[in-house]
Amino acid sequence: MSTRHPSDRTDSSPIDSSPAEAETEDGSVPAGETPVETARRQLDAALDRADVEPALADRLRRPDHVHRVSFPVHRDDGTRETVVGYRVQHDDSRGPYKGGVRYHPGVGESECLALAMWMTWKCAVVDVPFGGAKGGVVVDPSTLNRAEHERLTYGLAAALSGAVGPQRDVVAPDVGTDASTMRAFADAAGDPAVATGKPLSAGGCRGREAAPGRSVALAARYAWESTGAPLDAATVAVQGFGSVGANAARLLDEWGASVVAVSDVDGAVYDPSGLDLGRAASDVPGRLDHDAGVGTLTNEHLLGLGVDVLVPAAVGGVLTADNAPGVRADVVVEGANGPTTTAADAVFEERGVTVVPDIVANAGGVTASYFEWVQTRRATRWSRERVHAELDDRIERALETVASTAARRDVTWRQAAYLLAVERVAAAHRRRKAAP
Ligand code: NAD
Repeated sequence: MSTRHPSDRTDSSPIDSSPAEAETEDGSVPAGETPVETARRQLDAALDRADVEPALADRLRRPDHVHRVSFPVHRDDGTRETVVGYRVQHDDSRGPYKGGVRYHPGVGESECLALAMWMTWKCAVVDVPFGGAKGGVVVDPSTLNRAEHERLTYGLAAALSGAVGPQRDVVAPDVGTDASTMRAFADAAGDPAVATGKPLSAGGCRGREAAPGRSVALAARYAWESTGAPLDAATVAVQGFGSVGANAARLLDEWGASVVAVSDVDGAVYDPSGLDLGRAASDVPGRLDHDAGVGTLTNEHLLGLGVDVLVPAAVGGVLTADNAPGVRADVVVEGANGPTTTAADAVFEERGVTVVPDIVANAGGVTASYFEWVQTRRATRWSRERVHAELDDRIERALETVASTAARRDVTWRQAAYLLAVERVAAAHRRRKAAP
């Protein structure tokens, strides 16, 4: 395993940002900008407003460690293939590094740095005592059978054995990995607390799967009620009916909002008097019964519907300079990672549309991961009710702090969230430096 520290770098650019890595699976990248450029630009915008000394600001732009590993994977046909993996650890001033592991042919160091930085800010803004990391293996998981997938995970865990651990760096599922990958990683590492997102039978957390959608629904309710109107007066459109979108839509419906449109990759179903979401769900996860409404729409049309709350919860980069002027919602809640391009964000700011940023809105996932880590370490199991109560409390506190910071400092909710996160991380660095 090779480990590089920031001090090993001699160039002025902290990390290579290859254009080949410009498109992430999350699509959280404005056109022509690599993920790490986006992440640094967002950090710099927050640093412009935050009181952070230059040396510390420079440190926050760089990862603490970049681990690049290569290791063999045995195929069932008897062949052996060497794969490359990464683990980028951005910051651990607030707690152990935390972040997903993805298996995807496009995994690269630069993209991992951007994703690790976003994890640092996401954990800080919801006040979860973790730092930020991200990693993965350059592989197409569709070419692996179950046993090969598991051997790959065992190989990765062994290759990263000095870099990860329950108190050092805790992994989670991401693109191309799932709960059984996390079980295999924990088995290989010999400690269940090194991974979250495990199956319930292997120490997972009740409610973990639904948690990102739950925080999206909490964010939508909070932001809408901040306008002074009750939730049962709100109409909602949700793009994406997967884990995040479907759970958010169902909760908003349960809490009294009128969900008038939901979509999957093939388009939207629509009913202006409110959809029957039970009817809209098909047997295939993430897919809809397109006969469930009174009509159908394209995904693009859904974004411009005359609704109060718009929840893009499918993929990144869907709200652009071209379509943002046509968005009629007063509140946009980012269920997906990076659905709003920088240019669209500027349009929303100009028009006074409240955008609840992804690092707060979908942070229910990492918050529930933290609950899982606590439960695993204490060998205890919380009830679903307790998970919901603790989750709601943390997310609502984060929303209140973001909204009040935005009002006090006269900035958008996104700028407020980044500002809060960066100031919390900077404060943790100062505390660490001051410690005897
Ligand atoms: P998912 O795969 O379960 O569902 C995705 C949904 O979006 C499906 O309904 C799919 O049909 C639809 N879709 C796919 N491509 C589309 C397109 N081009 N246009 C419109 N719809 C499209 O995914 P998910 O887990 O719900 O994640 C959705 C987003 O939320 C992603 O950006 C993900 O990174 C982010 N997110 C997920 C979690 C989590 O734990 N699941 C946590 C935080 C953030």
